[in-house]
Amino acid sequence: MQLYNNLSAKERAALIEEAGKDRLTISFYKYAKIKNPELFRNHMFLAWDQLDVLGRIYIATEGINAQLSVPAENFNEFKTHLDTISFLENVRLNIAIEHDNFAFLKLKVKVRNKIVADGLNDDTFDVTNKGTHVEAEQFNELIEDPNVVLVDMRNHYESEIGHFKNAVTPDVDTFRESLDIIEEDLRDHKEDKKLVMYCTGGIRCEKASAYYKHKGFKQVFQLEGGIINYTRQVEEKGLENKFIGKNFVFDERRSERITDDVIAQCHQCGKPADLHTNCANEACHLLFIQCEDCKTKMENCCSTQCQEIIQLPYEEQKALRKGQGNSNDIFKKGRADHLPFKKDLRNIFDVLNKKG
Ligand SMILES: [Zn+2]
Ligand SMILES: [Zn+2]
Repeated sequence: MQLYNNLSAKERAALIEEAGKDRLTISFYKYAKIKNPELFRNHMFLAWDQLDVLGRIYIATEGINAQLSVPAENFNEFKTHLDTISFLENVRLNIAIEHDNFAFLKLKVKVRNKIVADGLNDDTFDVTNKGTHVEAEQFNELIEDPNVVLVDMRNHYESEIGHFKNAVTPDVDTFRESLDIIEEDLRDHKEDKKLVMYCTGGIRCEKASAYYKHKGFKQVFQLEGGIINYTRQVEEKGLENKFIGKNFVFDERRSERITDDVIAQCHQCGKPADLHTNCANEACHLLFIQCEDCKTKMENCCSTQCQEIIQLPYEEQKALRKGQGNSNDIFKKGRADHLPFKKDLRNIFDVLNKKG
């Protein structure tokens, strides 16, 4: 079976048929040398704008990272156009499990330094010397191996609501932090342990696998196409699903439900919950998990302080925000001390020790 690797005509027809007038939510990435990202950006914007594509796309000299939605009826044209670009021909498209016509509201194609903010100096290692890619079936077998350390390469607010069973979920805010922590924790196991990594769609693991090989790890694997592709393959091939909870995504949907397990808890009252919310106080905007009851009681706010602020007239709120720096600095993603039920996630040693 093709399993969306390069989407046969038959698979495409089925997708489009199923979606009808709706939009398909898609993501893909490709590391490739792009000499003139501005020019490429303009070309992509024009082509996609005509097809009513919406989404957030980053282009850099190292490649392209795209999260987007395409009207189902334009999907064939979209795919044909991608195939005209040499390094995007037959690129793996990660098709979402849950589509949403409002996953993206605009088309933004931006030129960036990097396609993922990784904080790495790529000149120091060969990013194309990546680890072994494994598909869902092989991945399921591999992670049963007692010699495997399975690492979630995403950040704490992503793995908190869903992850693979027995995975190490580093308690980190950034990809860079996680690279260092894992290397440090596994420094005595670079040869004897199999390092198996996964992320949302594969883009982070691909860079990480090259980095770890450069750092002396001998057995490095990554889940091909990430959680999104895994879930599709599990469904299509009737494999055992070893992922529990929800897959965090970076669009208006915030997450895709993979299983009914609710593995996180409301950061305010501790009840089982796995719905992220941004604090309604624009000066705060903290991303945290809030249950329905707390949402109502707290009016979507992370604290009573924020709740008081949103009662103020808009002009007064704006005045308060002045001089507080931009929202990126205060976007702490659920790490605020006043949230009593934000748990520290397991560190790598707990898992290694448990395995003996
Ligand atoms: Zn609650
Ligand atoms: Zn707040």
